[in-house]
Amino acid sequence: LESGPKRSAHPKSRTRTVIAKVPELPEIEALRRSLAPELVGRRFESFWKSREPLRQPFSVSAWRKLIQGRTILEVRRRGKFLVLDCEGGGALLFHLGMSGRLRLLPQPAKPERHVHWRGWLEDGRELRLRDPRRFGLVWAGKAENLDRACPLGRLGPEPLDPPLNGQVLMCRAQGSRQQVKAWLLNGANVAGLGNIYVTEALHLAQIHPAKRVNQLTGSAWERLATAVVQVLEEAIRCGGTTLQDFQDGKGRPGSFQYRLLAYGRAGKPCFQCGAPLRDLRMGGRSSVYCANCQR
Ligand SMILES: [Zn+2]
Repeated sequence: LESGPKRSAHPKSRTRTVIAKVPELPEIEALRRSLAPELVGRRFESFWKSREPLRQPFSVSAWRKLIQGRTILEVRRRGKFLVLDCEGGGALLFHLGMSGRLRLLPQPAKPERHVHWRGWLEDGRELRLRDPRRFGLVWAGKAENLDRACPLGRLGPEPLDPPLNGQVLMCRAQGSRQQVKAWLLNGANVAGLGNIYVTEALHLAQIHPAKRVNQLTGSAWERLATAVVQVLEEAIRCGGTTLQDFQDGKGRPGSFQYRLLAYGRAGKPCFQCGAPLRDLRMGGRSSVYCANCQR
């Protein structure tokens, strides 16, 4: 019954599908890699922001004091956040929320709808944040205040740096009885994972998404850690997953969507055993898994 066709006709479930397709760690890493060579060594000269609020207000005084005219030293990623570190200790932080897109555009750049922030480099190029749903974020301030000012401070370890291992996951899950999928989706446990890569990693590790974390064995945690690292690394190599409109900073889509084993494949045969993949609704999200392979 669970493996029936998608009930996408219901407007509510369509909304939920959109929510599930937010950029995750590999997309932000692809974005970072595309932007870093262009931005490092450059300076922002001016900016513009729309009147509609994003998730947090943008401080014009912090911008003037800490970012404007300061050389960008590094473009780094923390979870799903992109951070531009400037000389003198200033930092400019971006989060794409659900529908944000950050692009570096030549001058003069064409106007678009839903643009909420634009920053111009001294060579005239424009870094532009477009975000129709406005769950995104641009924040300027001191790098040392990043953790306090933003949700960054509550993030768990980066899964790739250093690569996760089963021991780390098992320790962090101690005392929890949560379902493993919900546990992995919480950025306070592991940074940067969303529905796509958690679904893929659980499938690869052959773990049922509703399994309680206190019931996972040491070897299951080890398989899971290995699967998370493998899925993320492959997705980064593919430039991320483009299901709706993700593009990197130069407007290039990713290609991991062609390699998905479980995510978005409800009702289709499992590549391992041929059984139709099932769709379990967990916390308003779709969880595709193989009842045969994942236990
Ligand atoms: Zn299977």
